[in-house]
Amino acid sequence: EAKANGRGRLQVFAGELDNAVRDRRALEQDLREALNGGTGLTLAYQPIYDTVTGSILGAEALVRWEHTSRGRLSPDKFIGLAEERGLINQLGLWVLRTAGTYALTSDIPWVAVNVSPVQFRDDRFAQHVFAMLEEIGLPPQRLEIEITEGLLLQNSPGIQQTLRTLRAGGIRIALDDFGTGYSSISYLRTYGVDKLKIDQSFVAQLGRDTEVDSIVRAIIDLAKAMNMTVTAEGVETVGQRGLLEKLGCGQLQGYLLSRPMPAEALTDLLRDATRQSA
Ligand code: C2E
Ligand code: MG
Ligand code: MG
Ligand code: MG
Repeated sequence: EAKANGRGRLQVFAGELDNAVRDRRALEQDLREALNGGTGLTLAYQPIYDTVTGSILGAEALVRWEHTSRGRLSPDKFIGLAEERGLINQLGLWVLRTAGTYALTSDIPWVAVNVSPVQFRDDRFAQHVFAMLEEIGLPPQRLEIEITEGLLLQNSPGIQQTLRTLRAGGIRIALDDFGTGYSSISYLRTYGVDKLKIDQSFVAQLGRDTEVDSIVRAIIDLAKAMNMTVTAEGVETVGQRGLLEKLGCGQLQGYLLSRPMPAEALTDLLRDATRQSA
């Protein structure tokens, strides 16, 4: 009885696993088609604001996938898959080119693009990026690349060289989700990073947990000491904004200020902002 039951459960489990594998293969195939056909993938742009003046400094590009049957998919539904199935380089270059092209046609001072650690395994990554910038005619100063702490932790000479090349060529490097990984001050010094982005999990606890307030203060002070700028991610409340301003955090990003939006909406927003200040 118990045995039969156990086997039954195992069969159900195996069946589910089967379905999951099939589902993932189908999604992979769809992603290949989206990448090759150039349809379905889009970028949303979320402005990043100057804390004190309230003006838009730049925008982060966030990839979206309008899947024909599954609807709009957020990056956590397909970035991992792209990384595992060898599609991230193609996807990543598409994001860089699309965001770069957008920057050229709008008044946005710079765009920030998330780059997967897997893309950095390609020794020609920096070369590809500069070739693309030259081809479209975007100055490197108008591009920011967001990496995660895990990348620095790999402590590989190739990655160090790539980051050095990117920065030497004028591209800024931002450390995303800062505080959630394992970066040490010595890594920050070795690699050289232009910006820290305080992870939204800290921002969410601001003003509610004095320990978190102190951590955020420490991150901001560390950034100042090392000549880096700081962006707070996930700012949702007026209270958080007030505290971040008081602590001297230079840049803010979050739903309170603006949600990620289609390119055209950001272009309109920038135009309105220019008109108001004129
Ligand atoms: P991230 O780079 O840390 O991006 C911030 C995420 O927080 C975005 O989610 C954004 O929509 C969301 N967000 C912004 N403001 C707020 C807020 O006030 N409250 C809350 N709760 N969330 C906020 P999204 O667009 O779903 O992206 C998730 C992650 O996917 C990104 O985290 C990034 O790591 C990755 N990602 C996005 N686009 C790309 C891409 O083109 N390439 C790669 N490799 N990864 C990407
Ligand atoms: Mg990011
Ligand atoms: Mg982040
Ligand atoms: Mg994140």
